[in-house]
Amino acid sequence: MAGKKKEIQIQTIISDQNQWDEMLLTNGIVEVLTYAVGIIKPDDVLAGHVEEIKKKIKDAGFDIKADEERMLTEEQIRVFYAQNKEEPDFDAFVQFMMTGPCQVLIITKKEATDAIPHWKDLRKTSYSGEPEEKVKLPGLTKPESLVNICDVQDSVEDASRQLAFFFPNFHASEAEHHIERTLAIIRPNLLKERRESILQRIKDDGFQIAMQKEIILSEEQVRLFYKEHVGQDYFLVLLEQMTSGPTLVLALTRENAVSHWRGLLGPKTLEEAKENPESLRAQYAIENVPINQLHGSSSLTDAQKELEFFFPEEQTFALIKPEAAKTHKDEIIKKVKDAGFSISRVKEQALTREMAEQFYKDHKGKPFFEELVNCMTQGPSVIMVLSKENAVEEWRNLMGPADPEEAKKTCPESIRAQFAHDILSNAVHGSSNIEHAVRSIRFLFGGLDAD
Ligand code: ATP
Ligand code: MG
Repeated sequence: MAGKKKEIQIQTIISDQNQWDEMLLTNGIVEVLTYAVGIIKPDDVLAGHVEEIKKKIKDAGFDIKADEERMLTEEQIRVFYAQNKEEPDFDAFVQFMMTGPCQVLIITKKEATDAIPHWKDLRKTSYSGEPEEKVKLPGLTKPESLVNICDVQDSVEDASRQLAFFFPNFHASEAEHHIERTLAIIRPNLLKERRESILQRIKDDGFQIAMQKEIILSEEQVRLFYKEHVGQDYFLVLLEQMTSGPTLVLALTRENAVSHWRGLLGPKTLEEAKENPESLRAQYAIENVPINQLHGSSSLTDAQKELEFFFPEEQTFALIKPEAAKTHKDEIIKKVKDAGFSISRVKEQALTREMAEQFYKDHKGKPFFEELVNCMTQGPSVIMVLSKENAVEEWRNLMGPADPEEAKKTCPESIRAQFAHDILSNAVHGSSNIEHAVRSIRFLFGGLDAD
């Protein structure tokens, strides 16, 4: 059965050229980093065995890079255990896996080899794997491989695919370089007065802006985000300031992003910050405003929570228009996956005129409306629900501007720059806001996905 012990070893993933080059540079002794997705099943999670199992994994010389309790969807289970799908009780197993939360892990191991292996050889040795693991697990009578502790998959291809599937934001090379994400907030006064300057400063300090959102915060949002501060003497000023105009919220990435950004900000209060004139809170203080103008997460755990607060996992509706579905489907789907989206639902279907009209009803009456409907109904479209943090905005960014000529100028990497035929057959569609996304998903799939 799917859960049974398999004779597999953890496998090697060389995720990108840089990582590969770096390995070759390590002169003779090559340290190979291996990654796998591991799943601890619901019965063990419910019985409270997670910590014990994680300890066994660590005692066996592995490291756990990510670790999340999740209810898996049927699709995720079927993909992870695809190799077992022919087994007679597979459906029952899938049902069992949905009876409670699983613990999903990214497990890594460094292995030293004494030669520079050829890529092909490396792949061969890495997954033919000797069944007899070298590591003896304490408390177990026979030598055990990792797979006897929790479920892992058994080929390089599976491992890399599943890593992307379960942890779309995980990048092996980033984990090695301590690339982190932190949340930065540029408060309304600073945003209004010195937006370009602060954004430039952030980039000059080596940060990349992975996600951004400009929002006018409601009182409720401020009270929720700063719930630890409600009741402090400065809270009402903070509330008044934070709701006074648009705020820019950024997900920043770089090496050690959390501590680096905190270090740059300097002390919390303006009085203290001013004693440290190099600090950003001193440099970007706004006259007559008593609170600092920049926020940064205080720890990795806080960063994760704060990022989820402002950039929750979202679903958007996406469609590959008929002309592009015929000619560039695979390339577009590859770009979608490479950008870290999970494809939660997908079907190929030709829109009826009625559907296309409903779909673009906001454009009814515009001179191009009839042509647009014709173009949308000329053959099958690929219709998808995409999931990711901030998915609506991220998908629109990946699509690029509606007019391919403009897209080529302003966003040459975008899908429309690369695959659009003309402004009507411009390769893809995406919802323009979350309400439209919910409406379109309901319209074409009959409701939001459970996850
Ligand atoms: P979409 O809604 O398809 O994701 P969008 O939100 O970038 O694209 P909209 O302004 O909503 O662009 O236009 C919807 C579609 O109508 C565009 O994808 C494009 O094919 C078509 N369209 C928009 N403007 C024009 C125009 N001026 N001439 C011809 N077609 C247009
Ligand atoms: Mg639109």
